[in-house]
Amino acid sequence: MDKNHPRTGDMAPEEFRQYGYKVVDWITEYLMHVEEYPVLSQVSPGDIKSKIPTQPPQKGENMADMIRDLDEIIMPGITHWNHPNFMAYFNSTASAPGILAEMFSAALNVNGMLWKTSPAVTELEDVTLDWFRQMLGFPKDFWGIIYDTASVSSMHAIAAAREQAVEFNFRQKGMAGRGEVPRLRLYCTEHSHSSIDKGALAMGIGMEGIRKIPVDGQFRMIPEALQNAIEEDRGNGWYPFCVVATVGTTSSTSIDPVDAIGDICNKENIWLHVDGAYGGVAAVLPEMRTIFKGIEKADSVVVNPHKWMFTPIDLSVFFTQKPEVLKRAFSLVAEYLKTGEGSSVQNYMDYGIQLGRRFRSLKLWFIIRYFGVEGIQNRIKEHLNLAKWLKEEMAASPDFELMAPVPFSVVCFRFHPDPVKDVQRVDELNEKLMNNINATGELFLSHTKLNNQLVLRVAISGIRTERHHVEKAWKLIRQKSQELL
Ligand SMILES: *Cc1c(COP(=O)(O)O)cnc(C)c1O
Repeated sequence: MDKNHPRTGDMAPEEFRQYGYKVVDWITEYLMHVEEYPVLSQVSPGDIKSKIPTQPPQKGENMADMIRDLDEIIMPGITHWNHPNFMAYFNSTASAPGILAEMFSAALNVNGMLWKTSPAVTELEDVTLDWFRQMLGFPKDFWGIIYDTASVSSMHAIAAAREQAVEFNFRQKGMAGRGEVPRLRLYCTEHSHSSIDKGALAMGIGMEGIRKIPVDGQFRMIPEALQNAIEEDRGNGWYPFCVVATVGTTSSTSIDPVDAIGDICNKENIWLHVDGAYGGVAAVLPEMRTIFKGIEKADSVVVNPHKWMFTPIDLSVFFTQKPEVLKRAFSLVAEYLKTGEGSSVQNYMDYGIQLGRRFRSLKLWFIIRYFGVEGIQNRIKEHLNLAKWLKEEMAASPDFELMAPVPFSVVCFRFHPDPVKDVQRVDELNEKLMNNINATGELFLSHTKLNNQLVLRVAISGIRTERHHVEKAWKLIRQKSQELL
C-alpha cells in the first residue's frame, strides 16, 4: 500500500479507492456505535496535544498510521455531537445523506465565488434555498444565501442595516472622525445571542451602540419598551438603524413578538433582522408557523439547518427582502473577477465578505430530497413531543421546577428540593448536578442563567434521539440529584 502517484505525489487512484472503502466502513461503524462513546470528551486540557509530535514529519507517512492515530489520539478528544444523549446547547447532528453530500462536496472541491466558477453551485443554492423558503412558509420575495454560521449571517444583516442609512454614505466615508454623523443604535434584548453583539462590534457600532430592551416574564422583548427606547434615543441624537428579534433565544428558546416589533420597525424605517438560528426550523410544521407571525415585515431572517435540520456543520441560511442593499454594502468587483454574463446571473461573492465559497447547498439538497419535507417534519414533531413529555414529568416532580415555558424542544429546569431554601445553595446544587451528570459520559447537559439563577437545559434536537434516550436522561437526572442529598 501507499504507492504515491509517481509524478504528482498524490495518492494513487487504486489506493484512494481502498482507503475510501475503509473510511466509509469506519464512518458506518462509528455511527452504529456512537452511543458507546462518552458523549462529553473526558480528556484534560493538553492531553491531545501532548500525544502529537511538535514538528511536522519530513517524509510522507502511511494512511494506515494516520487512521490509527485518529482512533487512538483524536477520538478520545471528541465530544460526540452525533450521540443521541447530546442534550447540551443546541445539538447539531450529521444525518447520513448530509455526510455523503459532504464527501462529494470535498471531492468536487469547487469554489462558487462566481456563477462562472461553477454554475451548479450558484444555481443549486438558488433552488434549494427557495425550497427551504417554501418549507418555512416565508414570503415569495425572500431571497436567500448560505453563509457558514448564524453569527456571520447576522453580521451581514447588521451590515445591510447600516448600508440602508444611505444618507451617511458609510460605504465611502466610513464611520470614524465624522462630527456630522449621529451615533447608530441597534436594539435587541439580553437574551439575544452574543453573535448580535459581535456583529455590531465588527460593524463599528460599539457596545454603547447596542441597547437591550426589557423583556416580559417569559423572556420576550416588550414592544412598547422598544418604541419608547427608539423615541428616547432619537430625542438624544442617536440614529436607530437596526432591531434584532429572536425566534427561539439561546437560553430559554423564548420568542420575541415579530409581528408587533415589525410594525414599529416599518413605521420607524428601521431594519428588522430575525434570528431563528435554532427555533426557525420548527416552522416546517404548519402548526408552528405562528412563531414567525409578521415575518413579512422583517428585512432579513436567519435559520440554521446545521442546528435542527440534521445538516453537518456548517450551513446557515440567510434570507432578505432587500438583497440589493446587502449587495450595495459589499459588492466590489476587481478587474480579474469581471465576467461576461453580466446581470443575467448572480455572483454570490457580491453579497458578503468572503470571496471563495464551498458547495454547501449540495448537502441541503441531499437532505431535503432524502427525507422529504414529511420526513423532516416527523423528526421535528417527535422532538417537540419528547420535550413536552419531559416537561410534564418535571412539572409533576416535587424536587424539580421548570424555569421557562417550552415552546420548542428545550426544557429549562432546576433541581430544587424542598428543604433547600437558600438561593445560592440551589445554584451550587445545580452546578454540581450538571457536572456529575456530564462526568458519567452518558448524558451531556449545559446551563444558562435566567433571572440571575443557574438553570439547566435539556435540548432535544439530534436526529438519533428517541424516546428511550430522553427517558434514560430523565432517570439519570433524578438519580444524580438524589445522590446529592
Ligand atoms: C446558536 C445560535 C446562534 C449562533 O449560531 P452559529 O451558527 O454557531 O453562529 C445565533 N443565534 C441563536 C439564537 C442561536 O441559538
